[in-house]
Amino acid sequence: MAQKEATIIGAGLVGSLLSIYLSKRGYKVTAYERRGDMRKEKTAAGRSINLALSDRGIKALEEVGLMDEIRKICIPMHGRYLHHADGTTAFQPYGKEGQFINSVSRGELNKKLMDLAEQHGATIAFNEMCTDISWKDNQVGFENTLNHKHQTVNFKLCFGSDGAYSAARLTHHLQHDRFQYQQYYIDFGYKELCIPPGADGSFRLEKNALHIWPRGNYMLIALPNMDGSFTCTLFFPFDGDPSFASLDTKEKVRSFFKKTFTDAEQLMPTLEEDFFHNPTSSLVTVKCYPWVRNDKFALIGDAAHAIVPFFGQGMNCGFEDCSVLNGLIDKHNEDWSAILPEYQALRKPDADAIADLALNNFVEMRDKVADPKFLLQKKIEAAFSKKYPDKWIPAYSQVTFSPHIRYCDALVNGKRQEAIMQEIMAMPGIETKWESEEVEGMILDKLKA
Ligand code: FAD
Repeated sequence: MAQKEATIIGAGLVGSLLSIYLSKRGYKVTAYERRGDMRKEKTAAGRSINLALSDRGIKALEEVGLMDEIRKICIPMHGRYLHHADGTTAFQPYGKEGQFINSVSRGELNKKLMDLAEQHGATIAFNEMCTDISWKDNQVGFENTLNHKHQTVNFKLCFGSDGAYSAARLTHHLQHDRFQYQQYYIDFGYKELCIPPGADGSFRLEKNALHIWPRGNYMLIALPNMDGSFTCTLFFPFDGDPSFASLDTKEKVRSFFKKTFTDAEQLMPTLEEDFFHNPTSSLVTVKCYPWVRNDKFALIGDAAHAIVPFFGQGMNCGFEDCSVLNGLIDKHNEDWSAILPEYQALRKPDADAIADLALNNFVEMRDKVADPKFLLQKKIEAAFSKKYPDKWIPAYSQVTFSPHIRYCDALVNGKRQEAIMQEIMAMPGIETKWESEEVEGMILDKLKA
């Protein structure tokens, strides 16, 4: 029998996870990664970048047997810890008791995925950048980023998991009739900053929370790291006042932070250096179609669907892609001419939905979480959901804690619930009667309608 083979372009989070799934199934996997081997490179202190890992991603990591190890490097975040402009703080749980998301180092997670992929027999070729694909000959071209030598690799089955600015997608795109492509940049960029640990290695903010400083048009967030530090991300307009463009001197940065993020600023001794040293990056949503070519090629992860980070779902969604694909390999008994079209048919609506949900969540995080009316709405929903868990799951929980609910269903359910809540919130005196039978009865009636 011919050897089963897979060529994977990009060994980031998703490409490495996919390498594990396929190697475990007996495929001879070779992943080609543009960067050097991060396991051999030293990361500069204070440059840890973390991500929120939640139930969809956890499900996939459990399937490949990695979650027990990843759990050791996760910090549970049980809710949002809000730092208001007036200096007050508030804690909003993410879900029911016992539900949390996890802060995990992107680098450490990627390294562990690479280790496991290799343990299962995958080969990762580093410093190999995909430059082109020939669909006629089923060949991928790579350029070595160190010696600039080119090589051509024949493939039987190939995946483009090379991220939001995918070269695989581009060559697929340019050589495909009626390829649909939509790219949308928001007017905000982001910059990573740092809150170091205390002298004794302690966390200088509440450890088990995702911190947010919501300021209407923009926000600062902070996620905890294992070493006691926090990685902060400033989501901020590129232009206008204030903006990345207007904060153009160290003095302006320090004084803006002092005034706007007072309690954070006191914990940021390297603010000026970080601000001017770290890049200002843009935030893009990419939607495209088709993702697959016959039984030979598919886009996966950010290469298929880059989204903005405001729901903490990009990686989780990419991991879910891998898990769904794995289920389809079982279903279709390795018949890739059936697997790939169904993978695309299932995942495209979900990717489009989480892209929209993520864009909407920016407004919620930077602005609405500071609005007492919005907080009351969330309280009513949480109370109703606690009493009628089979009738109402808050939208955030559907996306984050309910991998059995598809993103596209979560989007539809969420819109319906939001419409009901708008009517509830418009009830005169809702502030005082929100726990009443009248309100509960009205929600039940509206759910029946
Ligand atoms: P990537 O992680 O981008 O990996 C692509 C890999 O391909 C890289 O290793 C790259 O070097 C390689 N590559 C690129 N081009 C080539 C080429 N030509 N040839 C060979 N290799 C190539 N998601 C969450 O779930 N939770 C979060 O909290 C979260 N926070 C985020 C915060 C920010 C600020 C941003 C920007 C994103 C966040 N995300 C989050 C999204 C998450 O980072 C991505 O969805 C995830 O990294 C996608 O994984 P990927 O493997 O598809 O792509």
